[in-house]
Amino acid sequence: MIYADNAATTRISDAALEKWCEVSQRYGGNPSSLHQAGVLAKRELNRAREIVAVAIGAEPDEIYFTSGGTESDNWAIKGAAFLTTCPARIAVSTIEHHAVLRAASALEKIGVTCDLISVDSQGNVRPCDIESLIRPDTLLFSVMLANNEIGTIQPIAELAETTHRRGVLFHTDAVQAVGHIPINVRQLGVDLLSASAHKFNGPRGVGFLYVRRGVSLAPLLSGGAQESNLRAGTENVAGIAAMAAALADHVRNLDEEEKHLRQISSRFRDEIRREIDDAHFNGNPDSSLPGLVSLSIRCVSGESLLHLLDMKGIAVSTGAACDSQNTQVSHVLRAIGLDDGLAKGTLRISFGHENTEEEAVTLAREIAKAVKKLKTALKR
Ligand code: PLP
Repeated sequence: MIYADNAATTRISDAALEKWCEVSQRYGGNPSSLHQAGVLAKRELNRAREIVAVAIGAEPDEIYFTSGGTESDNWAIKGAAFLTTCPARIAVSTIEHHAVLRAASALEKIGVTCDLISVDSQGNVRPCDIESLIRPDTLLFSVMLANNEIGTIQPIAELAETTHRRGVLFHTDAVQAVGHIPINVRQLGVDLLSASAHKFNGPRGVGFLYVRRGVSLAPLLSGGAQESNLRAGTENVAGIAAMAAALADHVRNLDEEEKHLRQISSRFRDEIRREIDDAHFNGNPDSSLPGLVSLSIRCVSGESLLHLLDMKGIAVSTGAACDSQNTQVSHVLRAIGLDDGLAKGTLRISFGHENTEEEAVTLAREIAKAVKKLKTALKR
């Protein structure tokens, strides 16, 4: 099997799985309990918090564990809005993940205005477009660090500086970026940053939100006093410890991994160009996730391509896997201005560190064969 859908989810790493088993078996206490079993579980939680903080250049008390990227995004956006009274306004980019877009829509129902930040044909947000959207009642901007469908990496430091000059908070959804490109929250200058463990070989259902010291958020989940009274619910200690182990591994091998992924992505693109005349690549070629390739081919259906590849044991995605139920053209491809003919023939290939150059070449050739097959069938 060739698995090239790492932007959808990744295989749990050996280190993360080992940590998960160790913590599940040995530290089964509730970290809020006062007895020894609780203290030991709490110690695992604190260790994980330190590891995660170091990985993104934060302090441990700025890391809040959540159930994943969706919760972190919802918390950042709703948590900022719930602390104010209307009229209030937020702004999000048109290519955000639905976890951000739908959290913003939910706020519109309670009177918060949501402005949309447009992107150019490569999916770039420009600082001047941000500046013109800031109003006296704007609370927060949310722009993702790297897009999950086309891979474009945004100039977050510049964007955050622009909103801060006007006293507006800045959140970034870094779910696709954490563990894959170097991230330092101080250099980025963001107030809030979301991440999810299953995108960097950690377990599913675990993530974190970075909240800069001094930034106030209302809790999304009310109940117990966990996570400094801000996120109620008994912590998923084994999942959190496993997430930290996975992240530490990624950060340790970041340079090597990035180089490997850029190399196989580039080989894949070359091979596709050689095999398919009218192949079109989406995103910003100069600022993009190392392992993600968005490829559009006119007059073929991305979904049919996906199924033909699946029959060969190859896993890729049409758009965002989180949206496989949705057969509409993706909002991201629409936002970058791709016409329907190209958008419907789009595949997302997302390599992980386990993929090899040989696999990238095989994948490109199998895509070319499948395209030929579909085009021949169309002519009949
Ligand atoms: N944000 C982005 C950019 C994503 O790609 C995803 C998942 O694909 C999410 C948020 C949601 O993360 P989770 O699956 O952990 O809820």
